[in-house]
Amino acid sequence: MMANKAWQAALGQLQIETPRSSFDAWVKDAEFVAYEDGSFVIGVNNAYARDWLDDRLKSKVTRLLTSMMKRTVEVQFIVWQEEAPKEALLTKSEEVSEETTPPIAENRTLNPNYSFDNFVVGTSNRLAQAACLAVAERPGEAYNPLFLYGRVGLGKTHLMQAIGNRAHQDGYRVLFVSSEEFTNDLVQAIRGQGTQPFRDKYRQVDVLLIDDIQFILGKEATQEEFFHTFNTLHRQGKQIVMSCDRAPKSLSSLEDRLRSRFSWGLTADLQAPDRAMRLAILRSKAAGLGRKVSDEVLDAVAERMQSNVRELEGALTRTLAYADLRGNPLDANLVEEALADLIPDPRDLEPDKILKTVAESFGISLERMLARDRSRQVALPRQVAMYLLREDGRFSLPQIGRMLGGRDHTTVMYGCEKITGLMEDDERLRNQILDLREQLYGQPVPIYSR
Ligand code: ADP
Ligand code: MG
Repeated sequence: MMANKAWQAALGQLQIETPRSSFDAWVKDAEFVAYEDGSFVIGVNNAYARDWLDDRLKSKVTRLLTSMMKRTVEVQFIVWQEEAPKEALLTKSEEVSEETTPPIAENRTLNPNYSFDNFVVGTSNRLAQAACLAVAERPGEAYNPLFLYGRVGLGKTHLMQAIGNRAHQDGYRVLFVSSEEFTNDLVQAIRGQGTQPFRDKYRQVDVLLIDDIQFILGKEATQEEFFHTFNTLHRQGKQIVMSCDRAPKSLSSLEDRLRSRFSWGLTADLQAPDRAMRLAILRSKAAGLGRKVSDEVLDAVAERMQSNVRELEGALTRTLAYADLRGNPLDANLVEEALADLIPDPRDLEPDKILKTVAESFGISLERMLARDRSRQVALPRQVAMYLLREDGRFSLPQIGRMLGGRDHTTVMYGCEKITGLMEDDERLRNQILDLREQLYGQPVPIYSR
């Protein structure tokens, strides 16, 4: 039991530390299979995942588990399917991994864990979800192409996979790739095998799902080939779905002929979840894990993790594992503790740097921000500066008042409260503060409020 919990905690840690695309592709579905006398057996779906984990993460996982179990442990990754009898695995794992071949019907580019059923819908993603569902039900007919965009961790890959799974079930030929894989395949084709197998792969499908299309920016040969692939499929009424981290019009270095094609069908964006939706997602994840978690705890997690769903999930996993390992009661205090070290250390934040970064982000001069000017145009940036000096800089209200050109502490308090309120409703402001924090800390910061 203890070993399983240690693995869950390690998984939470890996989710936070591993690049997102790698985590989703290789780590996410890894499961605890067995533990005996210092040996962990971790099961994964296929040989690729096993090899990848062996190469890249074995030592890290070993280290994490060693520290959690407070003894040296070793870790073995095996290819494993749930039906296999668990007892036999410790001794026969090699055999099992060789025998496991996927059933013919399986589409190896799709992950069955992503479905429409387990996608929580709310105001921030309603349009995107509806468009995806329509496309999944009638590929090539509803919106073609469908272009999904939004920040990292908001469900783009999940929705694309859900389309793929649904269409695959209905008998359509589906191919899901990241745009990096598309590029790699093309490079292989050019170097060796010739372009025919490449074209067969990409042009003989009913639904082509290309994830993270922004990675073809600046790659001319890839853009050229994608242009032709796109035209061929589109002409035949085959469905194309793309995801991207920004809107087509912001893909400035993309060739015009591609950019315009991206907007031929429907463009739908995904926004950061509001509080109600964060709670709904946490409830659904907790239920999925078979755990009863109080509203107090879910609230505390939702309050702290406001930027995206991936981090929300990671925080919940981490909190649960933390409670299990320590045997502490699962309450709001524990959430504090469990998530404490996710916050970058704000000690190095100079107040000057905060002021300058805020002024720049709003496109006003520092002098104007500090001056007596009361126009709205400067009042908001000034309040954002107050908020960051308070929340991140941890300065006192009177200190902040002085930094901002001699303002009263009640004015500062009002400013901070105003921004705290706006953060809930104002999507744009929330994203702007996210960006500001990323600039200030030199890394994305998952947590808004302390
Ligand atoms: P993106 O591709 O936009 O970076 P992902 O699709 O990888 O984001 O989503 C990150 C994680 O959050 C995934 O585990 C996904 O299942 C989950 N997720 C995102 N949005 C939702 C949602 N609305 N309901 C349930 N889970 C979600
Ligand atoms: Mg993605």
